[in-house]
Amino acid sequence: MSAATGTLAGTAPSPGAGATSPRATGVPDAVADALADAAATEPWAWPERTWRTVVEHVRAGRRLVPGSWPGGARVAVAISVDADQETPALRDRHTSPGVLAGGEYGSRVALPRLLRILERHRVPATFFVPAVSGLLHPGDVRDVAAAGHEVAAHGWIHERNALLPYEVERDLTLRSLDALESLAGRRPAGLRTPSWDYSPATLRVVREAGLLYDSSLMADDDPYELVEDGEPTGVVEIPVEWIRDDAPYFAMARFASLRPHTTPQDVLDIWRAELRGALAEGGVFQLTVHPGIIGHRSRAWVLDTLLGEIAASGPVWFATHEQLARHVLEVAA
Ligand code: ZN
Repeated sequence: MSAATGTLAGTAPSPGAGATSPRATGVPDAVADALADAAATEPWAWPERTWRTVVEHVRAGRRLVPGSWPGGARVAVAISVDADQETPALRDRHTSPGVLAGGEYGSRVALPRLLRILERHRVPATFFVPAVSGLLHPGDVRDVAAAGHEVAAHGWIHERNALLPYEVERDLTLRSLDALESLAGRRPAGLRTPSWDYSPATLRVVREAGLLYDSSLMADDDPYELVEDGEPTGVVEIPVEWIRDDAPYFAMARFASLRPHTTPQDVLDIWRAELRGALAEGGVFQLTVHPGIIGHRSRAWVLDTLLGEIAASGPVWFATHEQLARHVLEVAA
């Protein structure tokens, strides 16, 4: 997520009808043709092969929801912390110390605060770390790994994948995996794309990198298998949602009218309702938080309270995203 700078868009700007845009790379010719047609003509004039090819390029396959969770748990809970720190600002070329200090707060104050909350509730979490954030704060990555949490990939400098050619996206992804492996002592098993921004080639890159799972898409409440151009990939999607993300509720943009419009109490109530639904359906409750956003004194209590209530709700399986992905694949096999 990129809310630190107030840019909430999860997708790249559309070039609009009639515009020329670079031909998509890293995808089958039929997909590149359909994308070129989509960029150059009005949507109401698209032939069926255009809208159908575009829609079916990356799809949800079989649902991966076991009938029961380990330990007889009624729900699986997967907490994720996107340790963006300075990277969304750097991605947008904000080099002012005034802007970058907010990212620094995320490392020096908020991330240790979140680690203490997770420790208090004995909850394992997945930390999605842009490589540049990890290289700026190597001690954070070591602390996260030493506490038993998962370290997973989140781009190089929180770049927008949809704006990149396939070759650049692939290079940045592989370099970020190398960087995190050297920092955490273990190669990441999964990726969350920065800003949940998915290019036509992202799934190909995920497969070529040999990753177990992705956690960037929103086609279900619960895990599913990703399908690329009709072919099941074996890659697990652990879906995300803006509803279960702290950024949309708390983000602000200094020079625009965007201000937080939801109170911490209201955010807690919304996440409680998501949890109730997951409990009722025996599914997954997945949450995304950012140190620099929820880690403030007036907000961190929301996570603290929620984790306490989850643990008190009955048998619960707290899992990292990797543990969850491995489990649902094993049970489905
Ligand atoms: Zn992010």
